[in-house]
Amino acid sequence: MQHNPFENALEQLKRAASLGNFPEAFMSRISRPEREVMISIPVVMDDGSTAVYEGYRVEHNNARGPYKGGIRYHQDTDINEVRALAFWMALKCAVVDIPMGGGKGGITVDPKKLSKSELEKLSRGWVRGMADILGPKKDVPAPDVNTTPEIMAWMTDEFAKISGDTTGATFTGKPLDKGGSEGRGAATGLGGFYVFDVLRKHYNLPESSTVVIQGFGNVGGHAAEIFTAHGHKVIATSDSKHAIIKEDGLDIAALAAYKKENGKLEGFPGSRTITNAELLELACDVLIPAALENQITESNAGNVKAKLILELANGPLTPEADEILLTKGIPVVPDILANSGGVTVSTFEWEQNLKGERWTEADVNTKLQKILDEQSNVIYTKATDLKTDLRRAAFIVALERIQKAMGY
Ligand code: NAD
Repeated sequence: MQHNPFENALEQLKRAASLGNFPEAFMSRISRPEREVMISIPVVMDDGSTAVYEGYRVEHNNARGPYKGGIRYHQDTDINEVRALAFWMALKCAVVDIPMGGGKGGITVDPKKLSKSELEKLSRGWVRGMADILGPKKDVPAPDVNTTPEIMAWMTDEFAKISGDTTGATFTGKPLDKGGSEGRGAATGLGGFYVFDVLRKHYNLPESSTVVIQGFGNVGGHAAEIFTAHGHKVIATSDSKHAIIKEDGLDIAALAAYKKENGKLEGFPGSRTITNAELLELACDVLIPAALENQITESNAGNVKAKLILELANGPLTPEADEILLTKGIPVVPDILANSGGVTVSTFEWEQNLKGERWTEADVNTKLQKILDEQSNVIYTKATDLKTDLRRAAFIVALERIQKAMGY
């Protein structure tokens, strides 16, 4: 069964909103993006031919601040995926109560098939096509799947040429020497850990938990490192090609070095290869999907043996999977809370750029932890009060904050 991520998002909205008392006009507005822009980006390839790529920006809601959200480069990216991601961004920024709205961008492309110069031309082309709607007080993009600090630097440079904006505050996730923030690279993984550490106590999980992580990219790789540093044991992980397991715990630093050298996880000494499907069904304390959408669906949710799921990817569970896990009594920490560390530190970066400040990594992490500790407890209390799951509770908290900002 094919899952349209935007339909999943609207189904989540419907389920959560039924527990609240939201005016119809507000619900009609929050169910739709405020603006969608689709562009064709021509790129002269290294062989002299011209390829044309589809680019997107969806601006969902800016009642609480400028539109904010990453840009994804993926061969399967389409407008429905970007719509869903933009919607979740609006809720996510409200969950952590930062002064940002929600947006998202993307290009349908497999960036691994492009040379560096083609990638740069494509990235600059996206900015040229979108420049009118971007700006530090309008719309502030960031990295997402397959987009890197280097790509953000090209984009910042292109936007400065077009607009004259030299604050650097229009893009976040930049390299440190180009106005990036300390702590941004690890922020989503670290934020996920802070959220987990608060909720772990509520759900009586061990101080040394066993962890399975799907995806070993920016988010999953940092999460693996951080959970390990705090005494947890990562027993399995995966990339788009392979999943590996080592029951007595993977040496994450050595694995990262192995992946860098060999371009794959498979063959890491002491590990054995399993399938991606097996990875998601392993017995463990915490399962962390940190790759793409729709990984846990009605077809495999019944087989999940984890004691808690921490959604570091956006939209990794379908609404059908949510209901199955609720029945099984497995708590799911929703993406809009669990992975909000990234946008929170992105907002710190934006603030530093606008104020001309540079905060230390310790400052950044202290501010991040304060926000996530507080909001994790707000969401947990809401779920307990409403006798519902954490996703519905997070949606209700976010919707109430956006509703207030919109004046309903
Ligand atoms: P990334 O490109 O750095 O890493 C993605 C990882 O997933 C890679 O290891 C890739 O090999 C793996 N992967 C891809 N397809 C897979 C598959 N079918 N099965 C298993 N693994 C697969 O991207 P990222 O920035 O780490 O983002 C991962 C997720 O986290 C996305 O859902 C993204 O939207 C979300 N997210 C990212 C940030 C951020 O700060 N980068 C913030 C919030 C949420």
